[in-house]
Amino acid sequence: MSIFDEEKLKLVSGNSNELSILSYDVNSIQRYIFQSSNIKAIMGSSKMIDEFDKEIQNMKEFYVVTAVGGTGMIIASSDREVEVKEMIKDKFYKMVPGGEITISSVRFKRDELINGIKNEKNYKIPADIAGIKFENMDGKNSYSDIFKIISSEMQRQKSLNNPKTPLFEDVQRCELCGVMPASSIYHFADGDLHICSACELKIKKGNEKIREEGYAEELADISLSEMDKNWIGFIKVDINNLGNLYSKIKTSKEFEQKSGEIEDIIQSSINKVVNVFNLRNKYLVPIHGGDDLFMMLPASKVVDIFKTLSSSLSSLSEMGLSFSAGLGMSNVKMPIKFIFESAEALISSAKKCAYASDKNENFVAFKVISSNSIDPVTEDVLYEDEKTKNIYKLGFGMSLSQFFDDLAFVEKLRNQKLIPFLQKTYSCVKDRYEVAGLNVNYFFARSRMEKVIEDPIQYFNKFVLTETGSETDEKKVYESKIPYLLELSRLWG
Ligand SMILES: [Zn+2]
Repeated sequence: MSIFDEEKLKLVSGNSNELSILSYDVNSIQRYIFQSSNIKAIMGSSKMIDEFDKEIQNMKEFYVVTAVGGTGMIIASSDREVEVKEMIKDKFYKMVPGGEITISSVRFKRDELINGIKNEKNYKIPADIAGIKFENMDGKNSYSDIFKIISSEMQRQKSLNNPKTPLFEDVQRCELCGVMPASSIYHFADGDLHICSACELKIKKGNEKIREEGYAEELADISLSEMDKNWIGFIKVDINNLGNLYSKIKTSKEFEQKSGEIEDIIQSSINKVVNVFNLRNKYLVPIHGGDDLFMMLPASKVVDIFKTLSSSLSSLSEMGLSFSAGLGMSNVKMPIKFIFESAEALISSAKKCAYASDKNENFVAFKVISSNSIDPVTEDVLYEDEKTKNIYKLGFGMSLSQFFDDLAFVEKLRNQKLIPFLQKTYSCVKDRYEVAGLNVNYFFARSRMEKVIEDPIQYFNKFVLTETGSETDEKKVYESKIPYLLELSRLWG
């Protein structure tokens, strides 16, 4: 079976035996999208990149293999390579003002795009880029071999290009992006701002996007209850072992099919939570590109929404895939860029667990973001003397099943109105292990905790203080899950 569509290859190659695969990638796409904190400008930037991809998909005189999420691959005869590069550049700078793009190209023999690469020595690309190995290119994983070659060339191009931030002296900067010179005054509900022409276009596109998709007009609209006046929920999802899946792909058709399946699962999961929780005009999806998803949601429902979303996303396992998620809520006063970066930090925390695990499991890390001065992933000391040290961790990754077990425990506590007992326990763990044990025992006997967990020793060992190791021979380290459970109950509204 031919790696790329043979008919299409014939059409673009004409008499030439040499073909170029051109690929493009929008530089720092997320930084571009979150350049300004204005929600419409954010949604507009995202839409502008989508529209650019669609414009590339319509370049019918060439063979467009893929163009989605700000990256794409186009095949043309090599004598038109320069022309195609110029076309992509022109379209990009016209449609995505203020953005940057990298375009790279690699030439192949037509036969290699049909039957696979037999001799990798033809490609003088350093083998050490990003750990990509050019071994065993026997045409068996033919599509992924070509994919590796063009992505290593893309990385080489990216390392060469050094985007210069334009320097404008003595001009008023745009008050939204802070980069380009302001060119007009825009009337916002809460006052006038001097903005640049790029941001003006972003806002126009953002308004269109919000109307088309039924998104919230303002952050304040992302609200279902009193709590949502001060808090905003967020969920970020990222697929774990995509590289693994793609490295086994043999044809471009198979690539298209697999990425289509992933896209369908993600889209139907979004649709599901929007319907179940009645989120129309009460949510935003600033990033939704292929395998990457970032949603902003009513904080009061974010845990319940996550339950539904993650159960729907679990069907990824049928494709041999799993996901990592960053979950949380943030004070509404935080800049959106900061909320996004916190979600990113939580995702990498969850991904650390995914990489360390040998099972194809889903992972999550969560946090309540109330101040913009700290990393969402923290470890802190509750008590320390020469013999013992009590610590706690927040924002660390865990398996989804662990998360739901702990959530079920918090639910039991809540149903029995026993959350205050957690707070009482919290004051006990700021003491030496043995003393904490005595105090927790004492309070346990005088509470209704046996309705939730029968045995005080089990409660103590599982949640209050668990030995996690020792710093020296003499000094033991105990971890407390109590601050974590309190954080979870806070997140759950
Ligand atoms: Zn601007």
